[in-house]
Amino acid sequence: SVTWTTDQSGRPCVYTMGSPINNRALFPCQEPPVALSTWQASVRTAAGFVVLMSGENSAEPVQLQEGILSWYYYVTMPMPASTFTVAVGCWQEVKQQSFTAAIQTNTKFSLPSSQADFSPHIIFLSQSVLPGGSHLCGTRLCHEIAHAWFGLAIGARDWTEEWISEGFATFLEDIFWARTQQLSQDEVKGQRELKALLRWRRLRDEVQNSEEELQILRPKKESTGELSESGASVVKHGLKAEKIFMQVHYLKGYFLLRSLARTIGE
Ligand SMILES: [Zn+2]
Repeated sequence: SVTWTTDQSGRPCVYTMGSPINNRALFPCQEPPVALSTWQASVRTAAGFVVLMSGENSAEPVQLQEGILSWYYYVTMPMPASTFTVAVGCWQEVKQQSFTAAIQTNTKFSLPSSQADFSPHIIFLSQSVLPGGSHLCGTRLCHEIAHAWFGLAIGARDWTEEWISEGFATFLEDIFWARTQQLSQDEVKGQRELKALLRWRRLRDEVQNSEEELQILRPKKESTGELSESGASVVKHGLKAEKIFMQVHYLKGYFLLRSLARTIGE
């Protein structure tokens, strides 16, 4: 789960993206979402490198000796081991710039705690979303920020119920993105209706063209969240290659919330 690579300027960097089940290769842990724990870590680096880690604090480096820095991160709220991640490189913080400028110049973010309390404060964005301009990148970022609450701070007991966090994140990304763009009421409405229409088409296509078994929101039914005697939990359809490309759980969750919001108000 450790990726050693170089950044755009050819400088070395390393990051982990262990979610959902690869952090066991990094440190001894149990990874089902019901196994929660706190963590703390100190990482030493050569001066010039910045350590970003999921945690509640924004670490200030302490000099241990000439040319060696130490970075300390922690969480006090028990969280799944899958939410742990670390990224070490010559990162630069983007300050006092507009949202659009920030997303064009940096692929990694350390979010201020006011934006996403109790979240691990680190989001990985694929570079492939950057050429899409602020719209593609912005909505993606809004989706991931929504996961700071739905998916990280609170979440399903079982990974097979991904629709809960993905439905909320998909629903909220429109709301966050509309606020970020400071749209008028009419523009918000127009954009939301267009998105709903596109999502409806995508959902219809998937429902017509995928295995019915993969479309069920709660595939483990009454045994959802149950562990075996050994403590293992099985992610049903977790190894089906086509499953990770499917949006059906996101979209069914989104349309359920949209329907509820229309009935009882936001
Ligand atoms: Zn998501």
